[in-house]
Amino acid sequence: MSRDSTTNSRSGVTVVGSANRDIVFTVERIPQPGETILAKSTAKYAGGKGLNQAVAAARAGAATTFIGALGRDEDGEALAGTLRDESIADHLVRRTDEPTGQAFIVVDGFGENTIIVASGANGSFSTVGSADREAIGAASVVLLQLELPLERVAEVAEAAGALGATVMLNAAPARALPRGLMASLDYLIVNEHEACAIGGSDRLDVASATLASLVGRVVVTLGSAGAVLYDRGAELVRVAAPRVTAVDTTGAGDTFCGAFAAAIADGREYEDAARFATAAAALSVQSIGAVPSIPFRAAIEEAGR
Ligand code: ATP
Repeated sequence: MSRDSTTNSRSGVTVVGSANRDIVFTVERIPQPGETILAKSTAKYAGGKGLNQAVAAARAGAATTFIGALGRDEDGEALAGTLRDESIADHLVRRTDEPTGQAFIVVDGFGENTIIVASGANGSFSTVGSADREAIGAASVVLLQLELPLERVAEVAEAAGALGATVMLNAAPARALPRGLMASLDYLIVNEHEACAIGGSDRLDVASATLASLVGRVVVTLGSAGAVLYDRGAELVRVAAPRVTAVDTTGAGDTFCGAFAAAIADGREYEDAARFATAAAALSVQSIGAVPSIPFRAAIEEAGR
């Protein structure tokens, strides 16, 4: 494990995670079991926490590599196109016989949604090979989430730590984390729900303190209230979110994580990186969609002034 990205030749962010094609059906109301209804509209978007966070890191200015798994199908081609459009290195993306991951999202007229995720290729993400190790070892920051099989996430975190990269985990969606995985992390990023679920308490302060005693640095994001940073077991500082009018918070967490990773890879200090990430996430909630609303570095710096 290494937190110091400024004293060696490594650079950029390597994201190891999921990629999904989001298929969004807009309906007047969510159908009952056994019912068929007509959608008002449909649209397809790039998604998956891994891909979203890679886009956020790249737009925040980091040289970014994505390692994930796509099917050999039309959805896989579309997501590979997104990676290329975002100048994200994709040479280590596995192409598998499983279909590309898909999320079927039904959104009603009240903004309520129902989501079914078919993990597909993400679930067959293969073990870490020598080329992966090279990319992981060359990165300043390796950023992970929990949408790949847990044993693969743990394997990458351990390899990244051993190779001297700074290891970050966004523990979403929430699930119990093995101690070995926790021990490989330099940074754990969780929202309030994930903090309580993984920290084992309904009280956010208790759960956060538990996590902070297990991982050197823990960031708990608090929606419109910003984030609280823990360092070596103790609360370090609260970072307020800019006051904005939120129209769609989808992807705010992914934007925060990608921008935070980019800032740490850039050599920024912990608190400064969190301020940059809150500025990025506040921009993302002001427009619709996950990937379309992820801001670029110039806009983040402008907003953070
Ligand atoms: P999501 O699942 O909606 O992508 P999340 O639940 O993982 O997000 P949150 O804590 O809700 O994570 O939001 C992440 C960050 O986004 C916050 O720390 C904050 O910086 C920013 N953010 C979220 N909502 C708002 C808001 N209404 N105004 C300003 N910033 C916001």
